[in-house]
This record gives sequence, structure tokens and C-alpha cells, in this order.
Amino acid sequence: MNKKELPLFIATLSYLILLVLCLLMLFICIPLKVTSVEYLVIIFMAVLIIGYLVVALIRMNTFVYECSHCKEKNKMNYLEVLFSKRGNNSRKLKCKNCGRVEYMERHLK
Ligand SMILES: [Zn+2]
Repeated sequence: MNKKELPLFIATLSYLILLVLCLLMLFICIPLKVTSVEYLVIIFMAVLIIGYLVVALIRMNTFVYECSHCKEKNKMNYLEVLFSKRGNNSRKLKCKNCGRVEYMERHLK
């Protein structure tokens, strides 16, 4: 693994661990009726959403997409990447330099 990928890897891993812990907490607390379950569900949702955003942000800062036409390295918005057409290690994206819509290969920043 590349050193630049490490923060993304750590963030994704801790996100998954946190989610599993939250799920376990839910499964333990619901049958016992210890605290109000609504709060646990809210915490779980918050962890889910905030964690996802953090991972998305780190991912955005880890990868750039190289335009095959002008070789410009584009830093893409996470949503742009999410809703783009997927290719083999590439995404169909609009180049911010030349304006072409091309399959761009993903590179580490
Ligand atoms: Zn371009």
C-alpha cells in the first residue's frame, strides 16, 4: 500500500469499527431496555453520516483524476465522482481545464 493511502485506510477502518460497535450497542441495549433506544438510534445515525462524510473528504484529498486529453490532474468533488459512470479504475468526468468529458484514470495525489 502507498503511504498516501494510509489516512484513507485508517479512516475507513475506524469508521467500520465504530459502526460495528454502534450496532452491537443497539443489539445489546434494545432487549435490555436500559436507556431510551431513540437516543441510541440518533447516535448511530450521526456516526453513520458524519463518518461517511469524513471518509468522503479524505478520499477527495487522496485521489486526483488525470484527463487523458490535456493531462490535467483534476481534483474532483466527491459527489461528482459518486454519480459518474464507472470504468476500469477510471471515471467518466468533465475536465476542469479543457471541458471535455472523458474517462479519467485515478491517481494518488
Ligand atoms: Zn482536459
